[in-house]
Amino acid sequence: MPVKLVVVIITIVSLLILENKFPFFHYQNSLRSRIANNFELGVVNSIAASLFTIAISGSGLLVRSHLGLIATMSSPVIAGILSFLILDIYMYFWHRMMHRLPLAWRFHRVHHTDRSMNVSTAYRFHAIEIISSSIPKLVLIWWLGIAGNFVLIYELVFTVIVALHHSNLRLPASIERLLASVILTPNYHRIHHSQIVTETNSNYSSVFIWWDRLFGTYHARPDIDNIQLGVSDEVRELNIWQSIVLPIWQVKD
Ligand SMILES: [Zn+2]
Repeated sequence: MPVKLVVVIITIVSLLILENKFPFFHYQNSLRSRIANNFELGVVNSIAASLFTIAISGSGLLVRSHLGLIATMSSPVIAGILSFLILDIYMYFWHRMMHRLPLAWRFHRVHHTDRSMNVSTAYRFHAIEIISSSIPKLVLIWWLGIAGNFVLIYELVFTVIVALHHSNLRLPASIERLLASVILTPNYHRIHHSQIVTETNSNYSSVFIWWDRLFGTYHARPDIDNIQLGVSDEVRELNIWQSIVLPIWQVKD
């Protein structure tokens, strides 16, 4: 079994257990159908992303460059750290663009229509967003000559942190505070899923929270328990089909 799939399964199971034992929000609504819908979207997305990767590999377009800045570095430690930071900055700006460009927001909005959050929200994305986000990333990897093992390390850490900050886990305040000096924690990502637009347009980081602090999009809020999650103009609990057609329906409006 591929290592990434093993990490995904272990992460999901651990967080489902933990968020059930130590929940942040005590939801009254039907969690089960929501969770099933989100995980179904995750399966559709991983099939679409795998087919896309196979097509790209088969085309021979992205044979790893040995001339890129990272590939020519003599220190593998520095090359690894730089690769990690570059991939994480890329994800920050990609996420920011998904909120700022109206066409991109139509697709990313599917993720934000979840009116509750738990670990399954981390998999609630539109397949078009998943595939289109990987195109500039693949070009960046090829152009800089980032080694496959560095990409894998970033993706494994990304998988765990993104699942954690979407989860409904209530971390002890001291741990949340400590982690929030380095990574984007559940509390900061809950703010990003607020219905208040100025809050949604903040806290874009994936792994390191530093990018929001550095680029002026960091937003803190003390009363996180009062946050209304979701988007104000979409009150339905969307099923998988409604989630897939949502960006297109809007185009027709
Ligand atoms: Zn977002």
